Amino acid sequence: MLKSKIIAIKIDVDTERGTRVGVPNLVHLLERLTIPATFLFSLGPDNTGRAIKRIFRPGFLSKVARTHVVSVYGLGTLLNGVLWPGPHIGRRCAAVIRQTAQSGHEVGIHCYDHILWQDELHAWSQEQVRKEFKKAYDEFLRIFSRAPLVAGAAGWQANAYSLAVYDSAGLLYGSDARGLYPCFPKVGITRFKTLQIPTNLPTLDELLGRPEFPLATLDAYYLSLLQDDVVNVLTIHAEMEGMKYLDFFTKFLKKAQQQAVQFQTLQTTAEACLINRETIPICELTQGTVEGRSGTLAILK
Ligand SMILES: [Zn+2]
Repeated sequence: MLKSKIIAIKIDVDTERGTRVGVPNLVHLLERLTIPATFLFSLGPDNTGRAIKRIFRPGFLSKVARTHVVSVYGLGTLLNGVLWPGPHIGRRCAAVIRQTAQSGHEVGIHCYDHILWQDELHAWSQEQVRKEFKKAYDEFLRIFSRAPLVAGAAGWQANAYSLAVYDSAGLLYGSDARGLYPCFPKVGITRFKTLQIPTNLPTLDELLGRPEFPLATLDAYYLSLLQDDVVNVLTIHAEMEGMKYLDFFTKFLKKAQQQAVQFQTLQTTAEACLINRETIPICELTQGTVEGRSGTLAILK
């Protein structure tokens, strides 16, 4: 009998606007299609506007042009933390965040301050990483009155310090990197005990605007990438697939369901892996690049 292909959708929520508008859009869509997913929230201040300094990083301007950043994020979001203090997402959007869990989805931590984690992680000491993670952990605890089971780092920025923090936070798993299949991470000779489930499909913003990937054929392209021997982990963004590209994403999900693709949360994926803990491979976590994305990110191989 043919095994059906499985997708786990991981939804990174980066901004206050994405939480307020994109998340309910996605919850509504997923409810209509009876699809469970994993939402990872940014829980502290939305300082998106501070990303403006990335303009000086190679590749950033071409990405801005390709992905229509202003129409995706909205001008207000792009000025958060620049012209006015960034709104505190956890405090302002707690009801939306709780409602997401009540709708049956898995919820976890993306970060406290997205821009700070993405830009500064590699400059921080172990203690600074622990403190920043604890802010997100405490905010999650405040909102849900329970500890989080999962974190997936902002901008796929992870290193030996952040993996050590995950281990001591007692998470069930992390989803911080790009890679091929679930594994236990190591950095040099240091092995970590928290399972990693890497994203193994490209993100929409990495494909958009490249002439070889017209939007009209991207749903078919994604379907062609699905493998049947491993859970396909698709990271989407509340600000993209939940807003400007909601129609595209709806069409993709419907086509996938027509092809009998199954959906499960990352937590279900993690629990299934951990039944046979001793068979889980160990992969090195390194910093590398992926096509269509500026800067470096964590890669497991
Ligand atoms: Zn993010």
